[in-house]
Amino acid sequence: MKQDQFDVVIVGGAVVGSAVAYFLSALAGPGCRVLLLEQDPSYSRCATARSVASIRHQFSTPENIRLSMFGTQFLREAAERLAVDGERPQLAFREAGYLFLATAAGWPVMQELHALQRAEGAVVALLPPPVLQQRFPWLQVDDLAGGSLGLSGEGWLDAHALMTALRRRAVASGVTAWTARAESLVVADGRVQAVQLADGRRVRCGWVVNAAGTDAPRLAASAGIGLPVEARKRCVFHFSSPAPVQGAPLVIDPTGLYFRPEGQGYLCGIAPPEHEDPPSDDFEVPLGWFEERLWPQLAARVPGFEAARLHSAWAGHYDVNLLDHNAILGPHPALPNLLFANGFSGHGVQQAPGVGRAMAEWVVHGGWRSLDLSALDWRRVLENRPLRERHVV
Ligand SMILES: Cc1cc2nc3c(=O)[nH]c(=O)nc-3n(C[C@H](O)[C@H](O)[C@H](O)COP(=O)(O)OP(=O)(O)OC[C@H]3O[C@@H](n4cnc5c(N)ncnc54)[C@H](O)[C@@H]3O)c2cc1C
Repeated sequence: MKQDQFDVVIVGGAVVGSAVAYFLSALAGPGCRVLLLEQDPSYSRCATARSVASIRHQFSTPENIRLSMFGTQFLREAAERLAVDGERPQLAFREAGYLFLATAAGWPVMQELHALQRAEGAVVALLPPPVLQQRFPWLQVDDLAGGSLGLSGEGWLDAHALMTALRRRAVASGVTAWTARAESLVVADGRVQAVQLADGRRVRCGWVVNAAGTDAPRLAASAGIGLPVEARKRCVFHFSSPAPVQGAPLVIDPTGLYFRPEGQGYLCGIAPPEHEDPPSDDFEVPLGWFEERLWPQLAARVPGFEAARLHSAWAGHYDVNLLDHNAILGPHPALPNLLFANGFSGHGVQQAPGVGRAMAEWVVHGGWRSLDLSALDWRRVLENRPLRERHVV
């Protein structure tokens, strides 16, 4: 059997795998042979391509805040850092902010999280209803105790462009990219020795990074590891509104509904209740949802959305960490050369730069370096100690 050999094999070439490849190419130098495997060159079904592609600093754990703050810094520098032959990628990063809204019931938690976010350096402000009303005249504030607005660093971008630019820069710096499916991991003597490809090739390796999104549990299982991640369908609806809603940030309603501007219209969505959220691999959109569930809430929060018109919709899949809705990062204690970057549960685009850097630092330095992400490692999973994120969208 023909065998290739690489120092690092990354399985999954969407935004997270491409970020790992980019940071490895920047940190490890040309002596480190890196292979990026992607099974689907169209990227049409991956979460990255179906994301709402937004970034916020308003999380409830220091690790998530720090990861996203690095994400912002990276996005601001990306045109320079990811340029190839002088061509600078256009990531359409728009720092329009997130606005979390709270009723009286949610206000104490919002204040608590605000203190944490400020302590971490996030530029966020708590706004009482009259100030909200003045700043966003289109918003209905009667039932609100206040809102938390990101004033800098939060917003949205073109996730597909980010993924492409990371991969392109990595390949220009010497990373090898193959269109191939990793079928399984070959384990012996407490290490992953090789990656078996579906086309019959076997690639020997020093390290493997599992960046396979919703396919990550299957790959982990081939090495005997149970990764508590499942695919959950999330639908996004694109609508227009004749009424002007000037300067809208990404708004998160107390009901969980979110909306943000996109082009001439808006995107919106809401997570289904838990009992309607089974593991799923289909891409069907329940179109009735817009009329039945979203539109009434949109119109209640923004009276101008009363005349909203649905234009299109799509479905994608979160790779949900069933333990605590947070990423699982770094090596598994049983297989120290298998690094995990999985379970992002809806925030993987914004965390990709921070996670890509962290995985590359693991390979180069053998531990956490720029950010201590040990709170997100396997220990909490194995010891059943959830690090719950309270701001899941
Ligand atoms: C509707 C929706 C909205 C979202 N909104 C946001 C948001 O606003 N902000 C945010 O930060 N995140 C958001 N997310 C989450 C974000 O999109 C994901 O967390 C992130 O894209 C995960 O990236 P990934 O590279 O790990 O996985 P994916 O993008 O799913 O990519 C995995 C890749 O691995 C490849 N692959 C899988 N198995 C193999 C194999 N065996 N061999 C070779 N290749 C393989 C796949 O083909 C795929 O290309 C959203 C997700 C969805 C679905």
